[in-house]
Amino acid sequence: MAEGAPSKSFTVGIDLGTTNSLVAFCDAGGPRILPDASGRALVPSVVRFEQNSVVVGGAARDGASEDPERTISSVKRLMGRSLKDAQADLRYLPYSVVAGEGETARVSIPTAGGGASIVSPQEVSAQILRSLKEQASAALGGPVSRAVITVPAYFDDAQRQATKDAGRLAGLDVIRIVNEPTAAALAYGLGAGLSAEHVGERTIAVFDLGGGTFDISILRITPADSGNETSFFEVLATSGDTHLGGDDADHALMRLLLGGDPESLSAADRRILKQEAEAVKIRLSEYEMVQAAFALSSRRIDARVGRAEYETMIAPLVQRAIENCRRALADAARTLKQAAAPSIDRVIMVGGMTRTPLVRKAVGEFFGLEPYIAVDPDQVVALGAAVQASILSGETKGALLLDVIPLSLGIETVGGAVAKLIVRNSTVPAKASEFFSTSVDNQTSIRLSVYQGEREMAADCRRLGEFHLRGIPPMPAGIPQLEVQFLVDSSGVLNVSAHERRSGKRATLQVVPNHGLTREEVDKMERDSYTHAREDMKRHRIVDLIANSKLDLKWIGERFERFKDILEAENRVVLQRAMETLREFVCKAEADWNSVDADEFHHAKEQLDRASMRLQEVGIAMSLKASQPKI
Ligand code: ADP
Ligand code: MG
Repeated sequence: MAEGAPSKSFTVGIDLGTTNSLVAFCDAGGPRILPDASGRALVPSVVRFEQNSVVVGGAARDGASEDPERTISSVKRLMGRSLKDAQADLRYLPYSVVAGEGETARVSIPTAGGGASIVSPQEVSAQILRSLKEQASAALGGPVSRAVITVPAYFDDAQRQATKDAGRLAGLDVIRIVNEPTAAALAYGLGAGLSAEHVGERTIAVFDLGGGTFDISILRITPADSGNETSFFEVLATSGDTHLGGDDADHALMRLLLGGDPESLSAADRRILKQEAEAVKIRLSEYEMVQAAFALSSRRIDARVGRAEYETMIAPLVQRAIENCRRALADAARTLKQAAAPSIDRVIMVGGMTRTPLVRKAVGEFFGLEPYIAVDPDQVVALGAAVQASILSGETKGALLLDVIPLSLGIETVGGAVAKLIVRNSTVPAKASEFFSTSVDNQTSIRLSVYQGEREMAADCRRLGEFHLRGIPPMPAGIPQLEVQFLVDSSGVLNVSAHERRSGKRATLQVVPNHGLTREEVDKMERDSYTHAREDMKRHRIVDLIANSKLDLKWIGERFERFKDILEAENRVVLQRAMETLREFVCKAEADWNSVDADEFHHAKEQLDRASMRLQEVGIAMSLKASQPKI
């Protein structure tokens, strides 16, 4: 019997844009765009539903003016939204949008018989995805079955889910949804291209001005080094405008070229005018003066547009983007609990509109940095998605797979033990939370170190990163109530948040798993944990006993000093002896954890607990008395 080798199936990265979409692939040679048969990288996100067929991309866009009502563009704006949500967008959509099931926005496409067929935004997006899938499959010479798809950072759950569903309709297993700014940063490598001049943490701004939306994200990247085995991204702040982009510049140019309101035109003429306006805009990125000459059904347009005139027109748009940057920087300062905004090491430009010289100039002036354009702003998101895809599919060596969580995740507690919040092999998404407190009086800042591994002690696990919860009002040890929550979302991203309940202070950390452990390393860490399990457990227990006993000794010692005179003599002696015994255990254990018996230690701690009962009662009675109103 002949046995056919299973054909290799590829995993690609897809930037499903409002205006343009791209597909990319990453292997040992690095990420690259997969163009169509004629070498075009960008696929316009346009779908035309004809009588018996569906046309996608450039052909759909170019022929749009013949059939505007059946040509669907910017459908990303409708994904996962209700008709009401989408109201503000309908003005510039030349096709009809109606309410479907549950008030969701649907596209209504006229049919030959005078009726209409109702199509969901997911189905329209699926057409684009299917076309990208075929394009990728042709370029790679094999089937493509899985994809990482990017979405704007502000997309909510419904919008992300709709994107996943579109993938499924296109026959793609969407293994991850990734935020566009994170993908852009990934395309530059984890060091954001800064490795030469910077070491350690770096703060980057991702400025994304696309066709219809603007997003600014401030990310902090801590690259893998001796301290951290995993590089991680912390999103310090995001801001943006869902109605700011290249389309606005097109509309301004449409009015200028027409010398009036484009609303007065037929749908077909409006299409032509928009295409011509966009062409003028793109040429103005290169030339000082541009000539436009074309025909609408009713009249001819002949116009010259100068760069200066154009820039005056779009200056308010650019200013709106800059105001968002200012807001994002202020938010980043708040996240970092510092007065001044963080200094930005790199500004990454994303989106076709960032080719506009005025945009680059304004961004450069605002950040005081030359904007970074080493990777094509049109392609950077798709390339980053491909990097993520290759990590997830094991294409990139040394990558960590996080579909199931391969190693337990936890935080370091006092004494160097690790409290595990999420255990290994939990499937994503996974969520867990636990309460912690302080071990020192008047601690106003708590350091949280996040670890991964099976061993009991932090020193034997891998440190993923750390963050601080600052600004806690001074309180005695043990009083702050610190709730630590771990959430590994379906994208495999670990979000750690800490919340001090009494003061309401919060802090968060986002850890993006990356280039960390190989399968073999994971196996070894697991084997080690079995070999060392018994020893580790004891050590963990002793470390916890030391920490808790010290806390008890401190509390009880303080109260004892205050109230010893009103304690019965007999009780006083028992209590002193119990404190002394436990103190000895702590001293011995601190010198050598292996020299004490954990059960005996535990017993001594319980003895003190019991002996201090009376003291507790006296203390409570005294403090009640003190709080009674005095006459
Ligand atoms: P999206 O992410 O919204 O799909 P893109 O990043 O592909 O959008 O950006 C599309 C926008 O960029 C369009 O408005 C397009 O006209 C504009 N654009 C493309 N090239 C240029 C250029 N050279 N100069 C100015 N704008 C450009
Ligand atoms: Mg984009």
